[in-house]
Amino acid sequence: MEVRYSDWRSKEESIDKLFEKYPDIPRFVILKTDLHRRGYILSERAKEQFNPEIHHGKGIHLSGETDDTTVEGLYLRDGTAVCNGCVTEDDVVVRDPYIVDYIDGKLVITDQGRIYEEAEFWYKPDYYDKFTSKGTPMWKVLNARGHRLDADLNQYCEFWDIPGGGCKYCGIGVYGMNEKKCGHNLRVDPEDVYETLREALKQRGRYLQFRATQGSLLGGKELLDEELEVYLATFSRIKTLFKENGLKATINTTAMNVRQLERLRDEGGVTYYTSDIEVLDKEKFEWICPGKAKVIGYDGWKKRLYDAVDVFGKGHVSTDAVLGTELATPKGFRTEDEAIAANLRETEELAKHGVIVLDFVWRVGENTIFKNQKSPSLDYYIRMAKGINEIRESYGLSAYFADYQRSGNQPSTDLARI
Ligand code: SF4
Repeated sequence: MEVRYSDWRSKEESIDKLFEKYPDIPRFVILKTDLHRRGYILSERAKEQFNPEIHHGKGIHLSGETDDTTVEGLYLRDGTAVCNGCVTEDDVVVRDPYIVDYIDGKLVITDQGRIYEEAEFWYKPDYYDKFTSKGTPMWKVLNARGHRLDADLNQYCEFWDIPGGGCKYCGIGVYGMNEKKCGHNLRVDPEDVYETLREALKQRGRYLQFRATQGSLLGGKELLDEELEVYLATFSRIKTLFKENGLKATINTTAMNVRQLERLRDEGGVTYYTSDIEVLDKEKFEWICPGKAKVIGYDGWKKRLYDAVDVFGKGHVSTDAVLGTELATPKGFRTEDEAIAANLRETEELAKHGVIVLDFVWRVGENTIFKNQKSPSLDYYIRMAKGINEIRESYGLSAYFADYQRSGNQPSTDLARI
């Protein structure tokens, strides 16, 4: 395994120091954040414990399929979810990953030989080995993350069709992945989604939320109408299942206009809305997400988020930020302090308008324009999680739809249950 930043331990505060520095932040959340940041690898003994017949291995994602050589996720003892970070010996990483080992009859998270916590593999959903009436394997239709079912309806992002337009941290379009792995026409069939969702819901009590997303489709009579129609084709087919099963429906789209948002609510039965601005600073956004900047713009994206609050309600709208990319060289912030101040200023501005910021921990991807960059320190992510959670609470915004059970991805929403 190639580790790009091998001397990081001598330059960053250790996780043990950070446990002491932040006594008000649960160690589970700090550890989970670092597992997302650094990644983890399975020892041979841990691999022997992983059984794809009962554990959740392969999965379908916006970026493509994974197989049973990696695990989909881990749970820590308090229910904290580790949603990403499983790497293999072939991967290139920024910092050496944690090792998930099997010692004295327990699956444990270790670093440099020290045991930090116990862990458990996620369990395979009951629907996973079944097929739709068209013969599509159901695991290729929906993925499960905690208590949420995920559909990635179209795995092609048209921002990559704009020269230099793809987001620089994103692995979907660079080096031809759009064409080679996904294909322009690969869209999940609405009937397959209906049948898989109906089957998944037979596992009573497991799922609380359905979430759909897809790559950006810019075409149509108005910008994004084509993307809208893909969503509506699926949601209008499955929305009876939301009501029958008390399932909340959330959607993550390119930033849509009021007419499109109202159609998602009225025709699609969507309850919660997310549209990812990704970078919380106009200048850095224009550099890191040039396609989004060209087509909608930073101010335009924010306005559409504020419009979404009028349509879906305060606290029902969020935006993800891939935190850490704003420190990339050469055009990013020069210090972590400067970046945190700017990020929290913008988080507060969005919160004033009823929009929740969700913090995504950036793990540098090899198949991205930013592949040679370095993600920030663990201290950075803890300060951001704390700051975002405090702002969200002070503006009376709930993290309900992205909490530790429904999403489990964001350190700041892990803090919402304390
Ligand atoms: S919008 Fe950006 S992050 Fe999302 S799929 Fe397209 S290029 Fe990737």
